[in-house]
Parts: sequence; structure tokens; C-alpha cells
Amino acid sequence: MIVAMQEKATDEQIQAVVERMVEVGFNVHRTTGALQTILAGVGTPGQFDHKDFELFAGVAEVVRISSPYKLAGRGFRPEGTIVTFPNGVAVGGDEVIVMAGPCSIESREQIFTCAAQVKAAGAKFLRGGAFKPRSSPYSFQGMGLTGLKLLREVGDATGLLIISEVMEISQIDIMLPYIDCFQVGARNMQNFNLLRELGQVRKPVLLKRGIAATIEELLLSAEYILSGGNYDVILCERGIRTFETYTRNTMDISAIPVVKKLSHLPMVGDPSHGTGRRDMVPQMARAAVAAGGDGLLIEVHPNPDKAVSDGAQSLFPDQFAKLMDELRIIAPAVGRSIAQPVGAAV
Ligand code: PEP
Ligand code: MN
Repeated sequence: MIVAMQEKATDEQIQAVVERMVEVGFNVHRTTGALQTILAGVGTPGQFDHKDFELFAGVAEVVRISSPYKLAGRGFRPEGTIVTFPNGVAVGGDEVIVMAGPCSIESREQIFTCAAQVKAAGAKFLRGGAFKPRSSPYSFQGMGLTGLKLLREVGDATGLLIISEVMEISQIDIMLPYIDCFQVGARNMQNFNLLRELGQVRKPVLLKRGIAATIEELLLSAEYILSGGNYDVILCERGIRTFETYTRNTMDISAIPVVKKLSHLPMVGDPSHGTGRRDMVPQMARAAVAAGGDGLLIEVHPNPDKAVSDGAQSLFPDQFAKLMDELRIIAPAVGRSIAQPVGAAV
């Protein structure tokens, strides 16, 4: 149930509604938008008549939520969520935010070189896996803590925000000091224990859609994080598995407008995993921005042919810079802005 308070509702009036919601058995999540406070009651309440809440002073509207996701639904924050990072970078606002970097951190030289390249082109985040979920147990599994330390060092040196994948609960505390945003990979979208724990941290989480997940399942997974009180969740379309084999996955661009309609959470596109092919990444990146995506997650490598993972879908740095130039034409056409190139970095 959502209780939308009137614009001029007082703290006492809001408190009275919260207390009654708790009394009937709800967990109450409160969000204060530009105009009004919204109270979302989740959980399994006992018997009550939701119309009773309309009689409370200061209440504008009471809506029963029929969808299985309550906090991830638009109704909780009709104006949309903007996830703001400590340096002021905001995902979900006017600016399209680009996160770029290698699939895996491989060495100090690789990550510093790549960071300078993506920063120069206008990326705001450096991506890079320290813990890698690989389909084969014999493939490179990531540099682990050494990789995280390199990420932090290069983040501090360049001012780029750091996003990296968390694969299990035990890695959360290890990663916290080194990263600015957790990435939950496609394979872990329904690792509900991990999602619950990420609901307890106060650092943003980028949640990728699973390879066989519906949009509703993606939003329900986000709900696990939100229900813990961590509202800073960014969703990501990274391609789903279909009968098509030409591309690694089928990038579901339509998921972007669908999610933007159903949810208040920002949504970005990952055309690298979405296609698996470097020659198709720019097209799908452009499409994701044109479709209303709040950002992009793109694999870029200083020397993709030598990459230890996902080289075939990693852009060369000059391709990435060209793509950013193209996005600087597309973003304003759909009412968005995007960072200018910053020239030589580090
Ligand atoms: C990645 O971003 O490198 C990755 C492993 O992504 P996904 O979880 O989408 O496969
Ligand atoms: Mn990858």
C-alpha cells in the first residue's frame, strides 16, 4: 500500500500515519520527493481497510499496490530516483553517465592506461572486475584484493568512480573500502541472500538483468535490495538468451522504456555483454541512449586482442572515443546531456 501525503502535511501527521501502518503490520519505507512524502507499506499486514487511511489528516491518496514489487515500482517515487555519488556524479538525472573499462583488471599498467583513455573520452566511472564469474572454472578468475587496491589507486588518481562486481556475501566487506558502486552480475541476479545483504550497505548497487530473467523478475530482485533500506539501485540491461546465436546475447533495448515506465530506478545499458561483438557495440550503445537509458556500461581495453576476458566485445580506446562523440550528438536529441572529452588524464 502506498500512502501519498499532501504537500503541506506536517511531521506529526506523517508520524501518525506511520504509526498506524506499523500497527496493522506493515514495514514502512518513507521517501520525501520534491513535492510530497510517500509512505510505502510492505510486508504481510493483518486485516485492515486501506480506506481508513484516507481519513487521516494530511493524507492525499491511498493506493493499493497490485504489482509484486512495491518499492521498485514507480508509485514509490513518481519523479524518479537519482543515484548521487560523493563527487556529485548523478545517475538518473539529465546527464547520461558512461561507465567504461576492461572486463577484468589484469595489471597495474593495463588499468592505469585504460583509466586515462576512458576518462579522456568522457567516462565518469571506471569499470573492472576483480572477482570474475567465469563460465569455466579453468578461466582466469580475477586478481581479487590486489585488483581492488589497484582500482582504488587509479580511482583516486583520476577522479573516476569505481564500479566492480561482487559475487558473494563474503566479498562485500572486502570491497567496501575500495569501490564506489557494487555491480551484481547477471549470474547473481537471483542470489537473494547476496541481494538482501546489499540492502544493508549504504553504497549504490548496479543490478544486471539475468540471462533468462523477465523484467518483473529484475524488479523483484531490486526489491530485495530496496527492502533493506538501500534505495540506491541502478538497473542494467545486458542482453538475454534467445534462440539467436549470431550475437552472444540478445540486447533487449525495449527493456529500457519498459523499466522506466514501471519503476523509478535508473536503467543503463551494457551493449558489450548485450552483443558480445565489438563491431556491434557502438550501434547498441547509441540505441540504448536513444531509448532513454540513463547511462552505459561498456568494456574498453587498451589492447583488446590481448585481453584475458571478453576481448572480442571490448572496444579499442579510439573506437570508444568515437562512440562518445556520437553519443554527444544523440543525447541532446533526446533531451539529455553527456560529458565533454577532458583531454589527457592522470
Ligand atoms: C561483466 O560485466 O564483466 C560481467 C561479467 O557481466 P554479466 O554479469 O552481465 O555477464
Ligand atoms: Mn565481461
